[in-house]
Amino acid sequence: MQQTQELELIDSRLEDIFLIQKQQAIKLRNSTASQRIALLKRLLEWINKNQEDIRKAVHADYQKPYPEIDVTEIFPVLIEINHAIKHLEHWMKPKKVGTPLIFLGTKAYVQYEPKGVSLIIAPWNYAFNLAVGPLVSAVAAGCPVIIKPSEMTPHTSALLRRMMAEIFDTHTVEVIEGGVEISQMLLSKPFDHIFFTGSPAVGKIVMKAAAEHLTSVTLELGGKSPVLILDDADLKDTADKITATKFLNCGQTCIAPDYILIPERLKDAFVEEMKKSIEKMYGSNKNGIEGSKDYSRIVNESHFKRIQHILSDANLKGAKIEFGGNSNGQENYIEPTILSHVTWEMKVLQEEIFGPILPVVTYDNLDGAIMIVNQQPKPLAFYVFSKNYKKINAIFNETSSGAALANDCAVHFLHRELPFGGVNNSGLGKSHGHFGFLAFSNEKAVLKQRVGSAAVNPLFPPFTLVKKKLVKGILKWL
Ligand code: NAD
Repeated sequence: MQQTQELELIDSRLEDIFLIQKQQAIKLRNSTASQRIALLKRLLEWINKNQEDIRKAVHADYQKPYPEIDVTEIFPVLIEINHAIKHLEHWMKPKKVGTPLIFLGTKAYVQYEPKGVSLIIAPWNYAFNLAVGPLVSAVAAGCPVIIKPSEMTPHTSALLRRMMAEIFDTHTVEVIEGGVEISQMLLSKPFDHIFFTGSPAVGKIVMKAAAEHLTSVTLELGGKSPVLILDDADLKDTADKITATKFLNCGQTCIAPDYILIPERLKDAFVEEMKKSIEKMYGSNKNGIEGSKDYSRIVNESHFKRIQHILSDANLKGAKIEFGGNSNGQENYIEPTILSHVTWEMKVLQEEIFGPILPVVTYDNLDGAIMIVNQQPKPLAFYVFSKNYKKINAIFNETSSGAALANDCAVHFLHRELPFGGVNNSGLGKSHGHFGFLAFSNEKAVLKQRVGSAAVNPLFPPFTLVKKKLVKGILKWL
């Protein structure tokens, strides 16, 4: 009873904030580039001043190493802000379009108006970056925002709340903390746009809720991003790049390499290179990988258990541990682990792993490997390693994915000229840079007709002989 009353109170508070933001959205609709740039600069300044607090908060959530926080939480947000500041004026300028013959005498252009009150729902795995990154696009587009950070990263959420209160006027950007119940309360409101980052399963819930109000959505989802290694790949270079991106954030990265496809004859040599890379990057101190300051932990016990379950399922069904396999439940530590002899009946090949386990699947012929990729839901990213760029091009043309990278993994996240996002199961819509600005903007078609043109419009009845002839002439000409 008491809980119901509490929820009703929260809902009515959310309703109040939402209504105030609706008013705010109308005010912001007319905001100029320089006003929005001023807000972005305040954001930039705050982050620069409070870098140590950001590090402390993110680290407190799951022992993420400071250098990793710098590279994957602070750096991407700073480049997003700087990119928006540099280009915003150009992005906001109405884009003139050509004039087809039948529109002679008119003027037409595309105007970028802010969509309005926006909801950003963030995941826990890059709790700062994935809340503030989309916010930069929303501010650039001129939208008020409610951010719902993940309940799994309370220190970062508290920091975000303080940050927004210190930067923005009351209610322009609000941080609402809470779990599934609060998230669903928010989703019941008629937002103008919802930007969701999280799992495909919750993405479907978000899209269903958005459909109630025909709210537009950007869905940044996850899934299994494959790595296809061809027979001419440089295995050392490949292993270094896979190690660095697979075990970053303890494997809890949406674009982490999820599984490897490699010719059978190269498997052993590749596994050897992977072992060397892991030792080189994480195991060089006397306490081994567990003692490495550069290796994170699993976010909480429930995810620790989920990953352990994936591992024991693979073990039971006959997978071989080529490297790793150790863990420490008290610390949510799971060692970087490489599995071979894996089959598609195992959870490790059925579910998004989102942890430091790397299954290696072997193939006999390239067509078969490509078929495997095409039989799975379309991935967020697809990585191909080979020296033969002609072959790589052909493979990219035969497959569909949110991003396709040759001889690298995950780095496209930092490229502000590229759209970031998935396709179908891995996402809907794009983010970053101009694409992020567009996600929060309505591309309004504006057409300005001459006064008095009704008299000569062949589309208007009565369809006199002259008008009929004119239309026939046009049809012939087309
Ligand atoms: P999640 O889907 O469980 O949760 C994301 C957010 O949704 C959280 O704020 C959570 O509170 C909320 N939520 C959870 N269940 C909900 C429900 N039933 N109704 C309404 N809201 C709900 O995801 P996560 O565990 O936080 O993050 C991991 C997932 O996110 C992985 O699948 C990963 O691949 C994906 N991800 C994608 C990207 C990307 O940019 N494409 C980036 C990071 C993570």
